[in-house]
Amino acid sequence: MYLENNNKYECSGCTACKAVCPQNAISMVKDNEGFLYPKINEIRCINCGLCRRICPNIKKSSKNNILEAYGVKHKKEFERKTSRSGGVFVAISDYILKQNGIVYGAELNKDFSVSHR
Ligand code: SF4
Ligand code: SF4
Repeated sequence: MYLENNNKYECSGCTACKAVCPQNAISMVKDNEGFLYPKINEIRCINCGLCRRICPNIKKSSKNNILEAYGVKHKKEFERKTSRSGGVFVAISDYILKQNGIVYGAELNKDFSVSHR
């Protein structure tokens, strides 16, 4: 798990561990690409284990019980070719915008940092 081995593939940066820590011992620190990962202050930490119990990635790997899954893609080939994830985001965001809703997304900048727009 990320909190023990710093393996970034095991952390989504959700900040649940930071929020639950009773000692305020966890801070989210930016890596060189702008993504936030938890860092434990060992002096403050009392080893209560709450951060490991709340982590959704640890729960996921220990239970391994997928309840339901869907495979979807945009109907238009152009949207699929110019998008990630089969263009599903475009289809959903178009639907929301047509109803005067608001859509936020993450954008990769030229220096590989991430902006939310
Ligand atoms: S083990 Fe407990 S005190 Fe230590 S970082 Fe995790 S939640 Fe905080
Ligand atoms: S709770 Fe788990 S996934 Fe979320 S930031 Fe902490 S280590 Fe990463």
